[in-house]
Amino acid sequence: ERFDAVRVRYAPSPTGYPHVGGIRTALYNWLFARHHGGKFILRLEDTDRSRSTEESARAMLEGLRWVGLDWDEGPDVGGPYGPYRQTERRELYQRYASRLVEAGRAYPCYCTPEELKARRQEALERGEAPKYDRRCLHLTDAERRRLEAEGRPKALRFRMDDAGETVVQDLVRGEVRFENTLLDDFVIIKSDGLPTYNFAVVVDDLEMRITHVIRGDEHLSNTPRQVQVYRALGAEPPAFAHLSILLAPDRSKLSKRHGAQSVDAFRERGYLPEAIVNYLALLGWGYDAEQQIFTVEELIDKFSLARVSKNPAIFDIQKLEWMNGYY
Ligand code: GLU
Repeated sequence: ERFDAVRVRYAPSPTGYPHVGGIRTALYNWLFARHHGGKFILRLEDTDRSRSTEESARAMLEGLRWVGLDWDEGPDVGGPYGPYRQTERRELYQRYASRLVEAGRAYPCYCTPEELKARRQEALERGEAPKYDRRCLHLTDAERRRLEAEGRPKALRFRMDDAGETVVQDLVRGEVRFENTLLDDFVIIKSDGLPTYNFAVVVDDLEMRITHVIRGDEHLSNTPRQVQVYRALGAEPPAFAHLSILLAPDRSKLSKRHGAQSVDAFRERGYLPEAIVNYLALLGWGYDAEQQIFTVEELIDKFSLARVSKNPAIFDIQKLEWMNGYY
């Protein structure tokens, strides 16, 4: 173990309402922390300024509090802990980005969105992968000075490994291998000075000494990028556990029409938080084939990542209905 005690986090982007998939991710993190006597941290990933709203941030906090998922740390706001917010941590990301620039693992990029789009299109027409062509990695000093003098907006890109594989040992999925040449030099700091998700997540998970990253499957493909950033910073990545997606009973994408609304809609319709916690815990985790009803204490006692399934779990509103009737 790299750290003495378990430290996990739930890191929603406040761009919508807390839905069942997100709450299940939060719950698994919380159960894991409570089971191990560790810490559960809440972090709002609000760097996408056009999509993040204060209303959504508030709904996230209220939703978590309502289902009983309390967090253990945060900035001191003279009361209960505030969550961490990425927009309040800009200097930190800048500091880490400078370290990467000094180490030759990040470089400024002056390409405009239009230029990037046109060149991606050309690559596609040539039958090539539309990844960043590293034009700005190869700029001469004179070219760079000219672009700076023009006052062109610039982003910072991470320089990925050119060869080999990045291997992720996932606690749910097992070993997953990624070919490095398929991944492009992604932007770490945007021209507005804010970090991108893949960079901020690494800086924060390092700074917060996170031991286990438990999150949705949709981030598995981001993991090799993040692992490379850890290594470039001379750090060991945390353990990863990617949770399968939730599907509707007919195995289609889960949506409102399957009753999978936001948590406050459940609250308004009279569902009990205990029933929701019990039901969500069983979406992808099980103790044995029999037991269906668990108190929160039992869940804390019995939860382990070893019993989390890699198969998609089915969200069935009928079953939640039944469970709610039981409570
Ligand atoms: N902000 C990301 C999301 O909401 C978090 C991903 C992560 O946990 O690394 O999907």
